[in-house]
Amino acid sequence: MDSLIKNGLLVTSTNQIQASVGSKDGLIAGIYDPGEEPKANEIIEAEGLAILPGAVDMHSHHRQGSEPGFEYKDTIYTSTQQCAAGGVTTSVAMPNVNPPPNTLDLLKKQFSIYESDSIVDWNFNPAPTVNDEIPLLAKQGIAAFKIFMVVDTGRNYPHMPGIGVHDHGRLLEIMQHCAKVNIPLMIHPHDQALMDVIEKEFWERQERDALAYAKAYAAHDGVIWETAIATVLRLQRAAGCHLHILHTQTSGSVDLIRQAKAAGQKVTCEINPWALFLGCDWSTIERLGSYALSYWVPEKNAPGLWEGLNDGTIDIVATDHAPHTSEEKEIGWQDGWKAHTGTPSTQFYISMLLTAALEGKISLERVVDAVATNPAKIFGVQNKGDIVPGNHADIVLVDLENEYEIKDEDVLSLTGWTPYAGRRLRGKTILTLLRGKPVYKDGKVVGDKGYGEQAIARQST
Ligand SMILES: [Zn+2]
Repeated sequence: MDSLIKNGLLVTSTNQIQASVGSKDGLIAGIYDPGEEPKANEIIEAEGLAILPGAVDMHSHHRQGSEPGFEYKDTIYTSTQQCAAGGVTTSVAMPNVNPPPNTLDLLKKQFSIYESDSIVDWNFNPAPTVNDEIPLLAKQGIAAFKIFMVVDTGRNYPHMPGIGVHDHGRLLEIMQHCAKVNIPLMIHPHDQALMDVIEKEFWERQERDALAYAKAYAAHDGVIWETAIATVLRLQRAAGCHLHILHTQTSGSVDLIRQAKAAGQKVTCEINPWALFLGCDWSTIERLGSYALSYWVPEKNAPGLWEGLNDGTIDIVATDHAPHTSEEKEIGWQDGWKAHTGTPSTQFYISMLLTAALEGKISLERVVDAVATNPAKIFGVQNKGDIVPGNHADIVLVDLENEYEIKDEDVLSLTGWTPYAGRRLRGKTILTLLRGKPVYKDGKVVGDKGYGEQAIARQST
């Protein structure tokens, strides 16, 4: 045995027990009752700590593409440093980089940056916007394709022209291609035609700031989200692909997805930390403006969202980690449509979920399921997401006892800020192991650039 994590609270998706976990050659070798462990070269004392599987984050934005573009916000290196510190051992990124990978050639170029720069294991969701490339992209071990239905007005990032698709015919066609190659399709649902009308009403009233932006996106009880979800659910029924809906954030969306699942449709979905912990409180939006956006999730949605997450209608939690600079947010006080949307969240979301579990909002097991086990299962990410013999020794030790405070100066993103500064949480990461090796230890990222490997996904047929 190479190493033994001794006598911690092992939390899996199904139970929590006091146990020790052994690893050998980067793989989990065994789980033992305290006092019954075999000998090991290295002992890691875990008394008083919880042992969790490393998180598998299916939705992150690492900003760096094969040509210069958005690296001033964050790079693959700095993004994956935040992953290591936050207990994320597999991070899957989205295609809104420069240029957006939608061909085999561009995807391979993108992969090569990860191979040289990533600290944690990684994968990348290309954009399925070129029909002939889809079968080629599908053979690269990818976990999913990604489509944004949103096209930005007033700015050209984060939803740049060329990757937004909201034409229903094109969506159906893309879904048919994804079904043929048996790769899930992630969709950011958005009804652009309705948004055009809603935005116009706000602008005609001279309401343009971040608060107006928040209200526009939440207008008419989240109509832009729910009509888009209803549409893509109906198209899924026509195409038969595996549809994975992003940004679930209204209780009406949860109802639609619950119905589709009950009818046997191949649909899964995510929720993002900001919907549970940030945008769900109007006073936060007033205080932080564009720094709090992504979106406003009016308070009345919270019970339905937590219920959906607890009962599994919402399958997974994914970060939608989306760093932007302070300058790109400050402009939102005057013009919310010009501010780049999204919030950084990789570094602290596990702590926020664990704190919610300790407050009784969700079980520890369901947190582990939603951040690690279920994402690996749904997307066929091999040997990840669960602490069982034979899987990669991707293990996180967290402190569930002591509180700590989130501070801007601890943020590892190039942007240097977090909307969660000042919060007191439990569940601080103490140690992150990736394939048996520490990538975060004693408050420091210790993982090497380029240690991360592609987390290969294999879809069951
Ligand atoms: Zn996103």
